[in-house]
Amino acid sequence: EGRLIPFKEFRLPFALGHGDRLLPPEPILELDRYEALGGLVFLRRVLKNLLAPEAILEAVEEAGLLGRGGAAFPAHIKMRAVARGEPPRYLVVNADESEPGNFKDRYLLEHHPFLVLEGMLLAALAVGASQVFLYVRDEFEAAILGLEKAIHQLEEAGLLPVPTQVFTSGGLYICGEETALLESMEGKRAEPRLKPPFPVEKGLWGRPTLVQNVETLANLPLILREGPGTWRAKEPKLFSITGDVAKPGLYELPLGTSLEDALRKAEGVPEGLKAVLLSGAAGVFTRDFAFPLRYKGRLPLGAGAIVAFGKEVDLWEVLLGLAEFFREESCGKCFPCPLGTAVQVEMVRRRERNRDLVHHLGQTLKGSLCGLGQSAYWAYQSLLEVEGAA
Ligand code: NAD
Ligand code: SF4
Repeated sequence: EGRLIPFKEFRLPFALGHGDRLLPPEPILELDRYEALGGLVFLRRVLKNLLAPEAILEAVEEAGLLGRGGAAFPAHIKMRAVARGEPPRYLVVNADESEPGNFKDRYLLEHHPFLVLEGMLLAALAVGASQVFLYVRDEFEAAILGLEKAIHQLEEAGLLPVPTQVFTSGGLYICGEETALLESMEGKRAEPRLKPPFPVEKGLWGRPTLVQNVETLANLPLILREGPGTWRAKEPKLFSITGDVAKPGLYELPLGTSLEDALRKAEGVPEGLKAVLLSGAAGVFTRDFAFPLRYKGRLPLGAGAIVAFGKEVDLWEVLLGLAEFFREESCGKCFPCPLGTAVQVEMVRRRERNRDLVHHLGQTLKGSLCGLGQSAYWAYQSLLEVEGAA
C-alpha cells in the first residue's frame, strides 16, 4: 500500500521566503506521485465499498479531530449533524485563510492539493454531500490553478465521486467567516448570519452544509492511514512561525508543545523577545513562554499563527496596525463592531492605558454579531497585561 505522507516527512521545517536557507520540500502536484507515496488508498476503498462512510465518521470521532480553522470545534459533531440532514447536502472547504500570520492552508493547497482533495472527498462521502465547493481566497492564484488541475486529474482517473468546483472568494477578511462566506457564494454581500441555525442545519441555499477548514480535511487521510489512536497520540498541528526568529516558516508540532519549544524550533530565542502574538490579529500578546500550545487553554491558539517580536519592536505600533486592520475589515452589519473598532484606533493612537476604558471598549465589542468584532480588542487588552507584567 505504500506510505501515506505524514506531514513532517517531506514538508517541514519549511521556510517561507527563505528558500536559500531551507529549500521548500518538493510539492506533490501529480496524481501518480501522490499515489506512489501512499495517497488515495482510503478513497479507493470507499469507492469500492470496502470502507463504509460511517467508518470515516467513527475514525474522525475516535481521533478527536478539532477544527483547524481557529475555533477548534469537534469535526465529527459537524459531520454527523450534516450526515443526518435532509439531502441535498453540501461540503464547502474554507480556504479563505486571511488571519494575519497564518499561511498553513495556502501552503497545503499549493504544495499538496491531492492530500486536501482526498480529505475533502472522504468527508463529502462520509456526510453524503452531493456537491463540493472549494472557497479559495482570490490572492491564492497558484493554489486555484493547481487545484483546478488536480481536480481535472482526479476526474480523468475516475476518482472524483462528487462534483467539485473552485469558488473564488470575494477577497475580504470577513469572507472567511463561514456564514459570510455562504452569503457571498449565494451572490449576496459577505455579511455574517446570526447563529444558530448553524450551517450544518441551514447552510448553502438553506441546505445542511459542512464548512470545514483546509488543514482539518487534510488530516482525514492521515487519520485513516495512521489509525485514529496513533494520530490522536500525536495530535499534529501546523504552526506558522514568523517575526524575530532565525528560521521563520511552517512547523508541524504536536499539540501541547510549549511556546518556548515552538520558538526554538524556528531558532527563536525567547529571552531576546519582547512578546509573541499568538493566533494572529484576533489574538493576544503574551510572554508566557511555558504556555502549552493546545486548544481551550488560557490563551487562544486560533489557526496557529505565532509572531515573535524582538526587544526593539514598539508593540503599540504593531497594535495600531491590528486596530486599523479591524476597523477596515469590519463589515458594518452590526452596531458595536464598526463603532468599537473605530474608537479602538483612536485609543491606541493616543496610547490609552486606562484599563477601565479598555474594559468598556471590550464590553462594547463583545456584543458584536460575529467573531471579528468579538475578538477585536483581545490584542489591546493583552498588551496592557504584558506591559503590566514587565
Ligand atoms: P464558532 O465557534 O462559532 O464555530 C466553529 C464551528 O463550529 C463553525 O463551523 C460552527 O458552525 C460550528 N458550530 C459551533 N457550534 C455548533 C453547534 N452547536 N452545532 C453545530 N455546529 C456548531 O467559531 P467561528 O466564528 O466559526 O470561527 C471563529 C474562529 O475563526 C476564531 O477562533 C479565529 O481564530 C478563527 N479565524 C480564523 C481565520 C483564518 O484565516 N484561519 C481568520 C479569522 C478568524
Ligand atoms: Fe460585521 Fe463586525 Fe458585526 Fe461581524 S462583528 S457582523 S464583521 S460589523
